[in-house]
Amino acid sequence: MFEYLLCPVCKSPLELENRIFSCDNNHSYDQAKEGYVNLLVANKKRSKEPGDNKEMIVARRQFLEAGYYDSLVERMQALILDLGPAGITLLDSCCGEGFYTAKMHELAELEIEDCYGFDVSKPAIKAAAKKYKDLSCFIANVQDIPLEEESVDIIQTVFSPLYSAEFERVLRDEGYLLVVSAGPEHLKELALKVYDNYKPHNYNPSEQLSAAFQRVSLSGLKYSIELKNKEHILSLLKMTPYYWNTVPEKLAVIEKLETLEITCDFVLSLFEKIGTDEEE
Ligand SMILES: [Zn+2]
Repeated sequence: MFEYLLCPVCKSPLELENRIFSCDNNHSYDQAKEGYVNLLVANKKRSKEPGDNKEMIVARRQFLEAGYYDSLVERMQALILDLGPAGITLLDSCCGEGFYTAKMHELAELEIEDCYGFDVSKPAIKAAAKKYKDLSCFIANVQDIPLEEESVDIIQTVFSPLYSAEFERVLRDEGYLLVVSAGPEHLKELALKVYDNYKPHNYNPSEQLSAAFQRVSLSGLKYSIELKNKEHILSLLKMTPYYWNTVPEKLAVIEKLETLEITCDFVLSLFEKIGTDEEE
């Protein structure tokens, strides 16, 4: 466990002893009672509480655990299982409260040796560590991943930014990157209630990645869900960036809704890191 962790300050390997991770240069990081570790360098935080706040974390957990995205989870699991890996190291980049990380970790066939969940949000990592005791959760900056180079077999990232150079550095040759992103009509009905000028999503993960990443599969998943109560409607709103853009008049309308039919439109892109074989 934890054999690839690096000190975020000096990049030396970290050793765990008595719930404290430390490097040869005497930088140390305590394991919190919930089991997570804060590897965020204080002066690199751009704000006091970076990342998703507690309200968003609670909303996302409530929504995801209601099962609305279970079909997405099944598709993700099938894609990874199809690769036939075993004994792997998995990194969930921007893992949030750990829902998708745990879903991968529970696949016995993967024989996961190390499963790292990294997120910059403390409330998210705290919630992940509390609920999923078997996961290794770290408050960390995924733009500067505290892992050794070529240490990870699979990176997954769900609705999160892609950091091509860092993903390339930590992935082993022929390792995989699974990206879940929004398809054009994802949450269309909700967006229509928030914005006067609705624009379909237009995001292509390939454009964010270097030539080291070769796309091996691309699939879409689109279905409708019926949000069954006010709470779930608000939870969904709060877990999206729409929430921060919702003017009070529109929020008042949304808060009155009893049910809402919503389009889920996901794009699953699987990339392989091409080996840079330097043999003659
Ligand atoms: Zn150090």
